[in-house]
Amino acid sequence: MKISVKLLLLYLGLFAALLLAFAVFIYAYSAKNRKNQYYSHLKREAITKANLLFDAKVPPQVLQLIYKSAPNALFEEEVAIYDTSFNLLYHDAVQIDKVKESRKMIDQIIQQKEITFEQGSLQIVGLVYQHHHQTYILTAAANDNYGLMRLNELKYALMISFIIIISLTVIAGHYFVSRALKPVKEIVNKVGQITATNLHNRIQVSNEKDEIGELANTFNHMLDRLEQSFDSQKSFVSNISHELRTPLAAIVGELQLALIKERSIAQYQEVIALSLNDAQRLVRLSNGLLDLAKASYDQNTIGMKTLRADELLMDARDSVLKINNHYRVEVEFASEIDRDEDITVKGNEYLLKVAFINLMENACKFSKNHQCAITINFNANMLILSFKDTGIGIPKKDIEHIFEPFYRGHNKDFSAGNGIGLSLSKKIIALHQGNITLQSEVNVGTIFQIEIPHL
Ligand code: ADP
Repeated sequence: MKISVKLLLLYLGLFAALLLAFAVFIYAYSAKNRKNQYYSHLKREAITKANLLFDAKVPPQVLQLIYKSAPNALFEEEVAIYDTSFNLLYHDAVQIDKVKESRKMIDQIIQQKEITFEQGSLQIVGLVYQHHHQTYILTAAANDNYGLMRLNELKYALMISFIIIISLTVIAGHYFVSRALKPVKEIVNKVGQITATNLHNRIQVSNEKDEIGELANTFNHMLDRLEQSFDSQKSFVSNISHELRTPLAAIVGELQLALIKERSIAQYQEVIALSLNDAQRLVRLSNGLLDLAKASYDQNTIGMKTLRADELLMDARDSVLKINNHYRVEVEFASEIDRDEDITVKGNEYLLKVAFINLMENACKFSKNHQCAITINFNANMLILSFKDTGIGIPKKDIEHIFEPFYRGHNKDFSAGNGIGLSLSKKIIALHQGNITLQSEVNVGTIFQIEIPHL
């Protein structure tokens, strides 16, 4: 069910219940009032007749005549007067006799002084009347036709007003709810039109301060992020294809050239060596991409265990030196270690080694002496590793970009690469809730510093 319908029904239900309660209260209150007023009226009528009979000495026949001559005698108040011994002294019309008085009823009236009750639609009053030290019992009974008619009219008036008010509320409620939710509808329509080809579209924010404005703003920010990541995915894919095409084109070219005519063994060996070099570049690239994909996983899906930083660094160093035996990598502690926990982290062994290898290789390949000095340090919470070289340094304008995938600095001609290493390392360190920073000066050297929470 749509929110607008739900809201409307909710408020309508609440309002209808309150209105109904109000109408029922008015009706019940009026009904009670009518009944009490009519009992008072009956009492007055009985006393008036008794006064006429006893004080004004109006003959009973005259009173009966007046009663019977009333235009609607059937509905007139019928009065009867008894003495305490249940002897009938006066009756408006014995042949009509609306109330069958009994000895029991008379005794009850004497005892309670006054009683009121209903018999079908009749209202009856019985009361004790004193005249010249004599006690009489008066009863009066009638149908409050006029009062009941007015009560009925009130009932219909309340019912009709209820229906009219509820109908007006439905119309007004529908109008206001749709007006209030119109911006949401617009957002839904607009968002529905956004696809991968028009990610630049944004939702118009009419009032930034209300909830709908906030929603639209949040959507726009989400679209900003989506567009950004979509763009970086696009450039990532085009970078990959470019990186793949270059060595593949080189391999194809070298092999085609070699096939044009017969060559000497030395020439074939040269072609094979060149092709092998390009193939190794492809292998490095695909390994880098695979690692990048692994580092992009959710932390929870990656196996983590407790690892000592010095052991990890020594393993990484061995891997680097195995391939480049002319590189030199030194690992040292900045201070003495009292607690193993200070240099122990919870991490993924494979990924951390990949990050360390990248930083070691970069330090060595971008410096003439091919040396990298690593210092292990820590503070209260963090393990701090710095990878220092005295190489060619990174130009200032490159520093803000070097962590982007496939970005290679202006110094790239100094050594081969594919621009994946640093972006991969940053991802890996972030995956370990760590941070990577750098300081570099051209022709002086570079220091990459990693901070990872230790145990
Ligand atoms: P690659 O080394 O394959 O080019 P990286 O992502 O590892 O890719 O590095 C990106 C760029 O950062 C490099 O091309 C280089 O310009 C610069 N760089 C990284 N480390 C160093 C360093 N230690 N000294 C100088 N430049 C560096």
